[in-house]
Amino acid sequence: MRNRPLSAWLTSPRRFLAWLFSPSIPADTDLERRPSAAEATGVAAFLVDVFTRFPFNPVARKWLRENIRFEIGNLNSSTGGGFWHPEEKRVYLYTAQYEAAIHELAHAWWHTRRLGQEDALIGAVQRAASESDPAYARIAGLARGYIHGLPEQGFPGFLTDRNDWEMYAGLASGCMADIRLLPPYLRPFYVGLFDLLPPDAPWPAAIAPHG
Ligand SMILES: [Zn+2]
Repeated sequence: MRNRPLSAWLTSPRRFLAWLFSPSIPADTDLERRPSAAEATGVAAFLVDVFTRFPFNPVARKWLRENIRFEIGNLNSSTGGGFWHPEEKRVYLYTAQYEAAIHELAHAWWHTRRLGQEDALIGAVQRAASESDPAYARIAGLARGYIHGLPEQGFPGFLTDRNDWEMYAGLASGCMADIRLLPPYLRPFYVGLFDLLPPDAPWPAAIAPHG
């Protein structure tokens, strides 16, 4: 599965549904436990790994490091899940999973930057839900779920409560930080957070050791 060309991933349904839903807030009594020095080092190393493998803009990396607390419950697992706690400016991941890290860091980035852009983002996601260009099939599929819901799964979508923040983070992890997968009208919302990779670069998620 390593080094597959980007185009081979665009129409892959693998993990499609997993990307539709964001992790829920945990009832985890272990959340406030103080990490050991070794754990803190491991968490810092994982963040470096995320920022190395995925095209986070240097300014965003700096801002996230300096302004957001980043914590991981279990460094030895990559099963996923996590949350963004805005009052504490804290990202918590249950495990060291790239997808969850991208998703929750995108929440942290968008939290204040969204103000005044909410309707524009929702409009762009509505447009993506009707996107017919096969190059953007993955994101169009996600957008359709966000806009129209998945009634057979009891998922109402994110339009009913105009949940731009979950649309934003969902598409960030949906493309795994690679905005080449986004239609051009969605990319401006991610400028500053992610850099646009060259056309011939592999999809970073395809050469990562796990999702
Ligand atoms: Zn989320």
